[in-house]
Amino acid sequence: MLRKILLIDDDDVDRMSIKRALKHSEKTNMEFSFSEASDAQLGLNIILNEPLDCIFLDYLLPDSDGLEVLRRIREHGIITPIIMMTGHGDEKLAVKLMKAGATDYITKNSIDADELLLRVSRSIHAYEAEKQKLETEAALHKSNEQIVSILESISDAFISLDQEFNLIHLNSQAESLLLIDPQQALRKNVFEVLPFLEPWLNISLTLAQKNNSHLECEGEYSPSQRWLEAQIYPTEDNISIYFSDITQRRKNEERLNYLANYDSLTGLPNRILLMDRLVQALTRAPWRKRQVGVLFCDLDRFKIVNDSLGHDAGDRLLSIVADRLKDCIRCGDTVSRIGGDEFVIILADLARSEDISTILQKLIDAVSVPIRINSQELFVTVSIGVSLFPDDGVDASILLKNADIAMYSAKDKGKNCYHLYSNALEERHSNRLTLETDLRRSVENQDFIIYYQPIVDTQTDKIVSAEALLRWQHPERGLIFPDEFIVACEETGIIMPLGNWIIETLCQQLVEWHQIGFDDLRIALNISNRQFNHESFNQDLMSYIHQAGLSPQSIQIELTEHIVMSNIERALQHLHNYRDMGFSLAVDDFGTGYSSLAHLKLLPLNTLKIDKSFILNVINDKNDMAITKAIIAMTHELGLTVTAEGVETDAHYKFLKTLGCDYCQGYWMSRAVPAEEFVKLLKQHY
Ligand code: C2E
Ligand code: MG
Ligand code: MG
Repeated sequence: MLRKILLIDDDDVDRMSIKRALKHSEKTNMEFSFSEASDAQLGLNIILNEPLDCIFLDYLLPDSDGLEVLRRIREHGIITPIIMMTGHGDEKLAVKLMKAGATDYITKNSIDADELLLRVSRSIHAYEAEKQKLETEAALHKSNEQIVSILESISDAFISLDQEFNLIHLNSQAESLLLIDPQQALRKNVFEVLPFLEPWLNISLTLAQKNNSHLECEGEYSPSQRWLEAQIYPTEDNISIYFSDITQRRKNEERLNYLANYDSLTGLPNRILLMDRLVQALTRAPWRKRQVGVLFCDLDRFKIVNDSLGHDAGDRLLSIVADRLKDCIRCGDTVSRIGGDEFVIILADLARSEDISTILQKLIDAVSVPIRINSQELFVTVSIGVSLFPDDGVDASILLKNADIAMYSAKDKGKNCYHLYSNALEERHSNRLTLETDLRRSVENQDFIIYYQPIVDTQTDKIVSAEALLRWQHPERGLIFPDEFIVACEETGIIMPLGNWIIETLCQQLVEWHQIGFDDLRIALNISNRQFNHESFNQDLMSYIHQAGLSPQSIQIELTEHIVMSNIERALQHLHNYRDMGFSLAVDDFGTGYSSLAHLKLLPLNTLKIDKSFILNVINDKNDMAITKAIIAMTHELGLTVTAEGVETDAHYKFLKTLGCDYCQGYWMSRAVPAEEFVKLLKQHY
């Protein structure tokens, strides 16, 4: 490689002798080219404009002192080796020159070619090494500056640690996100300065360092109340950590998680989370030798509240019930809302199944405390079905299904109570499903018949009316009585189309009987809760009657005491409507439904029908006799007539007649019979 040498000397011979001495440059693996200057000014010009590898500088120059030139060169920051030349050796001068920045020093009259070559090559080598070092340092400095500016420009907070976890660098984002002052924090242990990072960062940091691999983790940084994600990158001598603020992402995730797993009205777990918890409870229970209880709770009168007071009140009621249910259970158990007024409770840790009855009673009592909403007192109750793991199923969905079945039994038992699942219940449930399918098919095929039972006026001993009683002519099972299917019709809504068919059929029948001469005969029609509460039912009824050409006076509507009393305000309103339309109104099964006399007085009724349970033993049972007497007296007092049901014997009839009972109905005269047979009865007793 060609090295460029500048010779600054006014003496041509001296310059020549240097060049000659360096002629055998091959010995050093260097080749030289030479520039020459005869005074300091010329020399400096070359130095400032050309890259050089070595300078020979004469101490005595015509225009300047060599020492001065040396200083000026060095002042320009030029580090090229400078070998000073003097006329003769002078130790003191040599020291002075070296101090001023000379690289070497030779005496002109004693130049040994080999030695000069050696000294020049050594100076050049040293210079090149120094130059290389400076360049590397400059490059490093530049790249450091770039890194710092990159770290400043990223949005993440960045810190770097040494292997002892001392902080060695942090960007300004780290200062603000982690709330640290770099002055105080640098060179200190990161967990000493930022103790709130330790609980979730320490383990990952140690692991990343140990395995020398990237790790990420996240946690809450309480001083700034932010959720941070940390990306840890260990290198050979330090560890870089990037923190990003994931608070918003966390919030979104939490919100999504909440929406997916919780009921927004009550804040309770929804069906998805319930199933999840149930599965967990079932997994844990066997090895802890525990049972798990699944409680299916359904509010009893919720629909009425919702319909009559509006959805806002309904929602408030549900929230209050949710809170009460929660208050009854232990932590570790779950209350969930899985539908309108359906709550499911998991008792995850039952030591003995007997313990459950206490909790069940607590739940029932808690719900039944009156709830005040918009200055109104509301009374709701709950029916609860219970299934137990492992006896009633080992699978979450089976347990839930069985608890649901048991809940229906609690409803059937009269509500506001609980019922435990049993296999017999399952059988009943599946019978019930078959019953429903059969019923629907039979409604289409019109497999129903109306039977008629005479009602006799005790003053004349004549039939004055007939109660229409439904029978189901089942294709396989034969004749079925209403007790077996009327509740299912009511609950499934089948009663609506079926009820219309009954009305249409009995209207035609009554017209026929009127036409053949029994022109004052009336018919008593039973209507169910659902029909009674249906908005347009009275209009529909009226239109059937008009179509048949009948008058409403010939129809007596029978409602059970239970239907009337379950919502007295509504009953009052409907009954007035029916009464205004001209129907005669009877309360059926009277004595079984806790009527309030105060209410009874307000109702626009015509007749009370004493329930057959009082009549069957009216002669022998003193209580039944007393009750029957009292009902008859009270009914007359209210200006109503009274009918006794279940009059089975002649003795019954006579006795009731003496008590002043107005009408009697029962096997004594006849069971309910098909229309053709009823005509025969009419012919004898009308
Ligand atoms: P209910 O309205 O109280 O009808 C009287 C029930 O007592 C009838 O039972 C009748 O057969 C029975 N009965 C009559 N006399 C005697 C007697 O001397 N001794 C005894 N032990 N029982 C007697 P049935 O026909 O089985 O009807 C049962 C209930 O089903 C009815 O009670 C009524 O609530 C309901 N039901 C019947 N038909 C209809 C209908 O068309 N629509 C609606 N919604 N319900 C109906
Ligand atoms: Mg009846
Ligand atoms: Mg009755």
